[in-house]
Amino acid sequence: MLIEANSLSWQDIDEMDTEGACYVLPIAAMEQHGRHLPLGTDDFILQTILKNLKEDKRITGNMLLLPAIHYGSSHEHLDFPGTVSLSSNTIISIVEDILFSLKMHKIKKLIILNSHGGNTSLLNAHVKEWKQKYCFPVFVINLWDSSFFDEVQTLIETPLSSDIHAGEIETSILQHAMPSVVHHDRISTSLDCLVTLKPYGDGWFSVELSPHNGVLGAASKANPEKGKRLLQYITDRIIRYFLEIKNL
Ligand SMILES: [Zn+2]
Repeated sequence: MLIEANSLSWQDIDEMDTEGACYVLPIAAMEQHGRHLPLGTDDFILQTILKNLKEDKRITGNMLLLPAIHYGSSHEHLDFPGTVSLSSNTIISIVEDILFSLKMHKIKKLIILNSHGGNTSLLNAHVKEWKQKYCFPVFVINLWDSSFFDEVQTLIETPLSSDIHAGEIETSILQHAMPSVVHHDRISTSLDCLVTLKPYGDGWFSVELSPHNGVLGAASKANPEKGKRLLQYITDRIIRYFLEIKNL
């Protein structure tokens, strides 16, 4: 069961069966997602996934959902209005403060559930350090990771390596889950922008690659049915990882 941790009392947590128990920390971003999707796209997608997870009976034992971090590392999108980025140091400090607090009590396992690609390398780089520093196992599930999306190509038309930001995947998911936040009238093939990122770190900014609207992908290929299937894929994959991690 995935339970909102802040809805419990300290006694509830103190008396909880710790066998297989762990915390889940969601982290997203507030950043431009083209002219057609809202700044909160990563956050809205994550909240939709969490809603599905809370209702899913496959999750057994106690998984405590911490309040989300709604901002992320979004420096690559700061040229577009409304984007708000935390620095790498701030994000790491927030996670470390949470770990410092959690380690004083009985449940000592944390899964970070990250829905923003810009946070991926930052979080992955610190897992080993946190494990040593806090004697606290931390696992990071990154939605925008090639291994997470390894079977997604069968669900979308855009080459997966070019569906980078606000393209077919994210647009389809919100068209299915939250159609009222999508500007359907602003989606057109003329705004699609298919690029492939360099195989080395070059510090890309979205304004350099897609100066007119910030999209890196093909939103014109999106539809709600694809979004429904993508959400199911993501939910199934997260549950698979949850069950694996809980048994470690
Ligand atoms: Zn996004």
